[in-house]
Amino acid sequence: MDIYFSEINYLIDPSNRTLHADYQQFLLSLIGLTVIDISGENNSEWRVISTLLHGDEPSGLIAIHRWLTTDNTLPRPKTNIRIIISSVEAATYQHLFHHRYLPKGVDLNRCFNEKIIRNSDSKNKNIAGYIERAKLIVNAISEVNPKAIIDLHNTSGNGPAFAVSTLINPNVLSLTSYFCDTLILSNIRIGAMMELNFCCPVVTIECGGSHDDQAHEVAYKGIQKFTQYDGHYALPQNKAVKIFYKPLRVVIKAERKLSFSEHDEGYSGVTLRKNIEQFNFGGCCDGLLLGWIDDNGLENLEMFNDQGVNVIEKYFKIDDNKLVCATNFKMFMASNKSDISRSDCLFYVVNNVNNFL
Ligand SMILES: [Zn+2]
Repeated sequence: MDIYFSEINYLIDPSNRTLHADYQQFLLSLIGLTVIDISGENNSEWRVISTLLHGDEPSGLIAIHRWLTTDNTLPRPKTNIRIIISSVEAATYQHLFHHRYLPKGVDLNRCFNEKIIRNSDSKNKNIAGYIERAKLIVNAISEVNPKAIIDLHNTSGNGPAFAVSTLINPNVLSLTSYFCDTLILSNIRIGAMMELNFCCPVVTIECGGSHDDQAHEVAYKGIQKFTQYDGHYALPQNKAVKIFYKPLRVVIKAERKLSFSEHDEGYSGVTLRKNIEQFNFGGCCDGLLLGWIDDNGLENLEMFNDQGVNVIEKYFKIDDNKLVCATNFKMFMASNKSDISRSDCLFYVVNNVNNFL
């Protein structure tokens, strides 16, 4: 499939006909990277909603389409809204919302910082195109000088919604509160869009699992609030938000085998419990069984802190051949999808909690 990396399609206050009767038809009518501008009451101020950086994460698109078509006329937000729909080709390839990125492509949301392109991606012959698309997205955001940016995603596995940001300030807490009650302050640098400085709050919302109607509802309700509130001074916060600091990524080394099972099958490498998703945000305590591991033990895994030190032994231990928690922590983004767990990470771990109003 050809991708036209250097093109953007603009829709300005689109008509009912352009929006089609449902989000599937609407998505199928789009050709590549698409920007939709919706005029607001205050015509000089902008907010941005980004979605489909990952083609298999539909909640943002479903919610945006619902927001645009619920009434017979377009909604009238407080400010202008720029919507950016990024990986249209991946989202429509073969089956709708089956591909995070196209086969032979790379993860677009790892291409926003050329200095930290992943080794495996740097050898991909299409990488230049993805970097070009990332730059077009950055330009589409920067040219309207937005006051706030929301980037809508789905979690890889099932679990409650949460927000991620690289900084905390009152507006970040407010933006989070429109969608969920949990914010992760992240200093991980993987080349994602939210790591860039747009001189305004950028909050990634992980709405929940991609097949979960509740996740689409989280996105829709959040968009309603995000577009409705007057933010002339500061955006109002409408509920308490829990904050987790500095998540760490648990990764399996490249050459090790990864499996999922309900029992110890004696496989080589690492076998995680098939129901690993149930621990997302639920809290993991010392001694909890997460899976099974071969004779190489924790050598199979890596977990680097912000000083670049592998701290895997601080969080996990081996009991016989069982992989168990060595301390209390929370995990999130755990999934039993082998491809994403292997190419991205098994899950994230956080251990500090504070309550902010
Ligand atoms: Zn995503």
